[in-house]
Amino acid sequence: MWIIANWKSNKNITEALSWVDEVGPQIPRNEALKVVVCPTVMCIEDVKKAVIVNGYHLTVGAQDLSSFDEGAYTGEEAARILKDVVDISILGHSERRQHFNETDETVAEKVAQAKQYNIESLVCCQDENTPVPLGVKLVAYEPVFAIGTGTPDTPQNANNVAKLLKDKHGSELEVLYGGSVTSENAKAYLSQENISGLLIGKSSLDTTEFIKIVEIADNLL
Ligand code: PEP
Repeated sequence: MWIIANWKSNKNITEALSWVDEVGPQIPRNEALKVVVCPTVMCIEDVKKAVIVNGYHLTVGAQDLSSFDEGAYTGEEAARILKDVVDISILGHSERRQHFNETDETVAEKVAQAKQYNIESLVCCQDENTPVPLGVKLVAYEPVFAIGTGTPDTPQNANNVAKLLKDKHGSELEVLYGGSVTSENAKAYLSQENISGLLIGKSSLDTTEFIKIVEIADNLL
C-alpha cells in the first residue's frame, strides 16, 4: 500500500526538515506500507539526507522531471541528475497539464526519461481514458474536480475507475486515488478492492493529519 505526499510548491528547507523530523520517527516499519514524500526540488537533497541519517522508513520522490535528457535545457531537472536523490516521480499531474501545458506526449517522454534512469513513474490519470505509457506500473486516479477543492470523488466511483484502468492496462497495475483526501475519508478509499494507496496534496502538509492517514493505512495491513 502506498501513501504519497505531494507538497506541490510549499515548504522551504527549514519547514521541510521540521516535517521530516516529526513524521519520520512515526512511520511504521511495515514493509507492505510505502510512504513517500515529494518535496520541491530545492528541498529534496536535504530531506533525503535527513531520511538516510535517521534511517526513516520514508522514500523521497520528485513532483516532476524533464522530458529531455541532461544538456542545454535551462531550468529543467533531468532524470539523470534527480536519480541521485529520488526513487520515484509524479508525472503528468493535472496542475502541470493546466498551468504548464503538459500533454500526454510530454508525459510519455518523461516516463521514458524516468525509465532510462531507473526512477519509478507515478502517472496521474484524470479518468480511465488518460493514456498510460507502456511499462508504467503505478498510476493515480485524480479527477480534476477533486484536486484541492474539498470535493472528493466517492470511494465507489474511485474504485470503479481504478478497475477500468486495471482492465485496460493490466491487473498488475497499482492504482492510487488522489483528490481532497483527509484523515476522515482515507479509510473509505483504502478499503476499496482496486485502490492500492493515496496521493495526498493539502493534507500531507500538516504533520498531524498526514501521520493519522499513515496510521489508518498501517492498521488496514
Ligand atoms: C494532489 O496534489 O495530487 C492532490 C490530490 O491534492 P489534494 O489532496 O490537495 O486534493
